[in-house]
Amino acid sequence: MPQGIATSTGDLMRSTFDLELNNVTKAYGDTVAVDSIDHLFSAGTYACLLGPSGCGKSTTLRMIAGHESVTNGTILLNQSDIAHLAPAKRGTAMMFQNYALFPHLSVLDNVAFSLRMKGEDAAVRHARAGEMLDLVAMTAFADRMPDQLSGGQQQRVALARALITNPQVLLLDEPLSALDPFLRIRMRAELKKLQQELGITFIHVTHGQDEALALADEIVVMNDARIEQAGPARSVFDAPKTAFVAQFIGAHNVLSLPEGLFAVRSDALSITDVASARLEARITSIEYQGTHVSLTAALSGDQSVTVALTDKDFFGDPKNTGEAIGLDWKMQDAHPLRA
Ligand code: ADP
Repeated sequence: MPQGIATSTGDLMRSTFDLELNNVTKAYGDTVAVDSIDHLFSAGTYACLLGPSGCGKSTTLRMIAGHESVTNGTILLNQSDIAHLAPAKRGTAMMFQNYALFPHLSVLDNVAFSLRMKGEDAAVRHARAGEMLDLVAMTAFADRMPDQLSGGQQQRVALARALITNPQVLLLDEPLSALDPFLRIRMRAELKKLQQELGITFIHVTHGQDEALALADEIVVMNDARIEQAGPARSVFDAPKTAFVAQFIGAHNVLSLPEGLFAVRSDALSITDVASARLEARITSIEYQGTHVSLTAALSGDQSVTVALTDKDFFGDPKNTGEAIGLDWKMQDAHPLRA
């Protein structure tokens, strides 16, 4: 296996241009896939577009790339509208989910392909493709054909092929979904490292909240064609603003109590005496999960909560299914939700 992605890129690509979406809309007939979204991606950010299938993530990415026209709105890179330029003229590059390597071209020629389209001569494009293969630690595979590569290696080639155009913004559509879980975690670390070294903006589409939390400087949560919440990964996770975000990002309870609707993290709930507790609940299941114990309990009405206890806390005072417990939390851990 090749070593990790190289560190010797210098700062040849470092991005200084913000990417700004203003009022961007995409309609397919009556279906509004993206509904008038606004967002500023700061130069050099690793951003993840996160949301369930069908919420408009890929359409947003394809409009930025120029593989889909905008119905309305502007896409500004360095303050100039790129929304109607050809994909190759935008300063963006896209890496597709299935990598889309040309099966009949060698690794080197795959990487050099866009320079061939631009009319560069063979010596120039092969030299530059060689640098890109070096960047992704694939130099030894330059003469192979795509079907002689593993999934992770194909992904590195696809990255090199996208980066050869010196993009300001790299767009990645579910880039890890074709990999097995073990390789996915390894390649995710490599993507992050590469982005930090290149200093260009990465916009990465995923429906996996763990992937977004692991990678993103900024998470943009989409739901039903709109941006539901955006911000630094920790602030989205710690303080979801809507019930949708709290549920989608996971590890939160959404509680609807007489005092209002709010989210509280499972690990911010504590178990207390029934008499002195804010809420009374009955344990419906207990799951040991190694680092912690996850306990589900039913409240009155049809609400249920999940409590994550450290294994020490749980086994220090074990509980049983069917037992009544009291639940408590600190005021600052309850985040009010927008309706
Ligand atoms: P996501 O990437 O979040 O899964 P998409 O951006 O692919 O979602 O799709 C958003 C919505 O737009 C979905 O309802 C989808 O069915 C619709 N859509 C996407 N592409 C097309 C198309 N070419 N024609 C018609 N509807 C489409």
